[in-house]
Amino acid sequence: MNFNRVVIKVGSALVSPEGKGCNGKYLLAIARFITECHLRDKEVILVSSGSVAAGRNLIHHGSPNPSITAKQAMASVGQMQMMANWQRFFDRPCSQLLITHGDLKDRQRYINIKNTLRILLENNVLPIVNENDTVATEELKVGDNDNLAALVAMVSDADCLMILSDVNGVYDSDPRNNPKAKLFSEITEINEALYAMASGTSNHIATGGMKTKIEAAEKACEHGIETYIVNGSDSLVFDKLLNNENPGTRFIAKDSSVKAKKHWLKHTLKSHGSVVIDEGAINALLNKGASLLASGINEIWGEFAKGESINITAHCGTRVLAKGICQYSSSDLEKIKGKNSADIEQLLGYCPSKEIIHRDDMVLLSEN
Ligand code: GLU
Repeated sequence: MNFNRVVIKVGSALVSPEGKGCNGKYLLAIARFITECHLRDKEVILVSSGSVAAGRNLIHHGSPNPSITAKQAMASVGQMQMMANWQRFFDRPCSQLLITHGDLKDRQRYINIKNTLRILLENNVLPIVNENDTVATEELKVGDNDNLAALVAMVSDADCLMILSDVNGVYDSDPRNNPKAKLFSEITEINEALYAMASGTSNHIATGGMKTKIEAAEKACEHGIETYIVNGSDSLVFDKLLNNENPGTRFIAKDSSVKAKKHWLKHTLKSHGSVVIDEGAINALLNKGASLLASGINEIWGEFAKGESINITAHCGTRVLAKGICQYSSSDLEKIKGKNSADIEQLLGYCPSKEIIHRDDMVLLSEN
């Protein structure tokens, strides 16, 4: 399997096949696959739907179409059931992250999510993400876990996204109406024609179902993250994935995730300020692939918030060497510049990260 860090999205139909409560019917094979990934030193983040379905029979709602508040209560109680259901399949600890679109749009919270995921993976924890349905109002919602999974893949710097569904992948027409429908095994370009084809199909292939999956693939591929849509209800699919075969639809990203991220950092993100660094830090950044530490910073220019992009400059700010996402605000940096990383906690009262700009969040301007 040609990836190092994968985000696996599991839909409600797999978590709660009957739509009331969750069970292990499909999750056992999925969990086995995740364990195989771990055994092969792959990092896995799970995005799991199913909280509303899992809580459905625990909240009296008296209607086939429960109100939004009833659904939020279902999500609240169902989330616990869903997490407990996952945990029983793993020896390693599972952790829960409930996030909204509002969290991902906010640079500071974005960076908190990123740091948390990084530390969880370093500690061999399986992070399980869902949308925070109980607090998310419409304008704060991602709305579907396919798009949420693509955003999680981006924030976590994953190089692969796998969307497990109850269909085999993307077809040129609805395979239940047309026995000759053809499965696309590889898609290199996501265009209007593809969306039209997917939304032209009926029922669960198209119930936002395939549309949001293609949207997710489009977002992920733009960031260099290869995406698969596969049938998670068929355990043979996982054997094929483990054998490097493609059992569904594979969306090919033009650039690698590292290259796409560097391009995004360099060309898309606007810098909100800069730091001037000393000779030792210049050498560490340019020649040793190091992250930027507080000790190498001489001056801070401009005002910026935690999580914003800034320039890293040399020689009184006249030469921009690199750009990157800063873990600290300019006012916090003023207090810790030139200091040892070990002193940050004492100086600020908190230390979200030893690195001021992590190497993964930095691009040298000399790099392509
Ligand atoms: N967050 C929802 C849930 O856990 C699922 C959203 C989706 O299926 O896309 O029930």
